[in-house]
Amino acid sequence: MTTVTSTNPRTGEVLGTFPEASAEDVGAAIARARKAQEGWAALGHEGRRPHLSALQRALVDQVDRLGSVISAETGREVGEAIFTEVAPAAAVAKYTAKNAARILASRKASTWPLITKQAWVRYQPLGVAAVITPWNYPFLLSFNPTITALAAGCTVVLKPSDVTATAGHLVKDLAYAAGLPGGVVEVVHGGGPTGAALVEAGVDIVSFTGSSPTAREVAAAAARHLIPLILELGGNDAFVVLEDANLKRAARGAVWGAMLNAGQTCIAVERIYVVESVYDRFLAELDKQVNALSSGTGDRGDIGPLTFPPQVAVIDRHLDDARSKGASVVRGGSSRPAAGGGIYYEPTIVTGVDHTMDIMREETFGPVLAVMRVASEQAALELANDSSYGLHGSVWTRNTRRGLAFAEQMRTGTVAVNDVMMNVAIPDLPFGGVGESGYGSNWGPEGLRTFCHPQTFTAPRIAPPTELWWFPRRVGPRLWKRYIRTFFRR
Ligand code: NAD
Repeated sequence: MTTVTSTNPRTGEVLGTFPEASAEDVGAAIARARKAQEGWAALGHEGRRPHLSALQRALVDQVDRLGSVISAETGREVGEAIFTEVAPAAAVAKYTAKNAARILASRKASTWPLITKQAWVRYQPLGVAAVITPWNYPFLLSFNPTITALAAGCTVVLKPSDVTATAGHLVKDLAYAAGLPGGVVEVVHGGGPTGAALVEAGVDIVSFTGSSPTAREVAAAAARHLIPLILELGGNDAFVVLEDANLKRAARGAVWGAMLNAGQTCIAVERIYVVESVYDRFLAELDKQVNALSSGTGDRGDIGPLTFPPQVAVIDRHLDDARSKGASVVRGGSSRPAAGGGIYYEPTIVTGVDHTMDIMREETFGPVLAVMRVASEQAALELANDSSYGLHGSVWTRNTRRGLAFAEQMRTGTVAVNDVMMNVAIPDLPFGGVGESGYGSNWGPEGLRTFCHPQTFTAPRIAPPTELWWFPRRVGPRLWKRYIRTFFRR
């Protein structure tokens, strides 16, 4: 039997081994989820609410275990693992349990201009959702789409990343601890072939979080089956510092946004644009902050090891390309091995960059900040938007109104003014991107609706024996033209 094994990137210790699901296993998981879905949908919102609350309580009860598994498997410090994965998952669980019924309530629609009719919209669950997730926030990104789909009345077959199967599997453990009906949450383990089999095997919607190249394959398969798709993909996020910014806060925000989770965050700060009047002061502050970071070999330290060691090749390639085109690596720029095969990458600052360099065009996904001096606010905006990605961005100015005006012009799914990344931790907000960063949202009100199809109902208010427009035809073009001119001219 082939297995999936996950290890601790600090120590190489084996954390979990799971049987790899074959295409038949995937089919069987979908069959169980489909069987469970009818009963799950029939519970309705009020019937599902206690189950969602039980899932929320199970998560809170197991915070210690969740924190230590996530920390061990990703290499992150335990507190950071809890803050970045368990806390936002708990918030989404509570939000969903409390609000799904309201957000997905049937609504009476206006029937204008057909005023003799009445109409309603009902949000019907799509059925069985495939949830395919990456290794960088393995618990949060598996839990959130799952609970959102469940709240919408779907059942779920989850395929976590094979790099972090143990953290992904926690979602199944929580469903069990919460006493959810069997088949409502199924987990299949494996790599790309298992994910591909899942998309091919007759699900009703796919929620995919991962890289843009894989998303193209998933989208092609979903298109063949005409199934809807949510794509939460990579980014190459811009961070713009205007001349009136609080430079200390901006530098600290940039360092946290870029170095958190060793830079392996889809909404990490990757490209910094600083207007020239404050460039030198900002860079000095940034360098001071980066210099103060510790890169730990124990389970502490600001910067842990790369969760997925092969990522080092991408980081090195981006830095080599930048150097060869004239950029300067002013801090960091190299890696060192950890016990057990892991890799620590030094927190790195690169200056003298431009948009001919891969570092400014592609996702680096490491603890690297590329900083560019720009002549004006307008130049910063143009460069920030000169990207095939559009996930997150931020702008720094003491004038919030000015920041919001700038933010509105950024081509991204989420933007922050004088802050980074916090959009993702607010459960009433949708989360997603544009361009190569994907489309759709896994959470927030929009996420709940995405796991449904809106079914509309109409009925006559009064039901005469016939209607004007039914056969035999009694109304000719003259009356219809008059109808249009009378009702729709203004
Ligand atoms: P990946 O694309 O390599 O893999 C993602 C998932 O897809 C894994 O579970 C993988 O096994 C599966 N998979 C691979 N090939 C498949 C196929 N042909 N069909 C179906 N499934 C397949 O991504 P990764 O390296 O695990 O994660 C890192 C990427 O995820 C980065 O680009 C990062 O920016 C992105 N990401 C995006 C978000 C977001 O919300 N926008 C969040 C986190 C990570």
